[in-house]
Amino acid sequence: MKIIVLPGDGIGPETMAATVEVLRAASQRFGFELALEHDIAGHDSLRRHGATVTPALLDKVRAADGLMLGPMATFDFKDESKGEINPSMFFRKELDLYANIRPSRTWQGVPHKVDAFDLVVVRENTEGFYADRNIASGGSEMLITEDVVVSLRRITRLCCARIARAAFELASARRKHVSIVHKANVLKIGDGMFIDECHKVARDFPDVTVDDFIVDAMMAHVVRAPQRFDVIVTTNMFGDILSDLTAELSGSLGLGGSLNMGARYAMGQAAHGSAPDIAGQDIANPFSLILSAGQLLDWHGRRTNQPAYVAAADAIARTAAIVVEAGESTRDVGGNLGTAATGRAFAQRLLEA
Ligand code: NAD
Repeated sequence: MKIIVLPGDGIGPETMAATVEVLRAASQRFGFELALEHDIAGHDSLRRHGATVTPALLDKVRAADGLMLGPMATFDFKDESKGEINPSMFFRKELDLYANIRPSRTWQGVPHKVDAFDLVVVRENTEGFYADRNIASGGSEMLITEDVVVSLRRITRLCCARIARAAFELASARRKHVSIVHKANVLKIGDGMFIDECHKVARDFPDVTVDDFIVDAMMAHVVRAPQRFDVIVTTNMFGDILSDLTAELSGSLGLGGSLNMGARYAMGQAAHGSAPDIAGQDIANPFSLILSAGQLLDWHGRRTNQPAYVAAADAIARTAAIVVEAGESTRDVGGNLGTAATGRAFAQRLLEA
């Protein structure tokens, strides 16, 4: 498996170094070949190439089997005409990574304010309210006059149907339940179409049960009784917000893995941002990126029918639980190690798995 590694901005280089250590241990322990090719994106690329991402980099990623994207300082990138492109949006759009898979679970050893749970948010990733990706050219947020802004949301049957299928396929390999989250009481046509498409796909999965929730009420349900949820499928912005809530409910945003996947490509990416407030201090939690790398191995193994990658992904998930419970982690989740030492401890445990 060839993976392009883009460390990113802020805490990206530290957390990516720890992740690479774990990936190398996984390939050693499970006996598969892994070619990790480092390149740059974000501020480094802007300085060197005049753009945060380049067409040459996209070609490289297209020729590889997967991409690991470190957190990017996206808020700094405001003017595309100056090469300031949001790398995360760029890859999601160019590679048609339509499904953002964000698992969240509670962990032994990490305090959490709600009942124990284990769920996955499946978020549509290519349209909705995201003005930078729901239109072929230009942006779908417009300043009509100095005092009037119009932001458009795009919903298509194709995108609803394919995200629904991703959710039901995932649920059928888990606890066989899908919850549809929407705002069809207000966005009657768009979210009405989303619900319809989800129910159409549900007919192909008779052993998966389905319910649905209005997004505002969902905030209460997921805090009050998160254990009732298995797979949650929703549109882009609702999924963005809801998955940060579920990650935080699990004990820390730093514990949320995230995979962006399409029919041919996939990108592992931390759920959090570049955290400039703690960059370079060796205190950032690398778990989110490590768990995302595990998801990427799992995706590749299933797609190419190579069980070693799936076994490695499974071991990474189990090792995370062991390492967290043993306190071999960063301070934000109750440990006393730095970022680099956390990566080393994780890799060591994985070699012993
Ligand atoms: P952030 O997620 O970077 O940080 C929020 C808070 O969480 C900060 O206090 C930070 O120290 C803490 N935090 C984040 N990750 C952590 C980790 N791994 N370990 C320990 N603590 C961690 O959000 P922000 O400060 O709003 O954004 C900073 C930059 O990141 C902005 O430019 C924003 O646009 C960008 N961003 C990028 C992504 C992405 O690349 N996917 C996602 C969100 C934000």
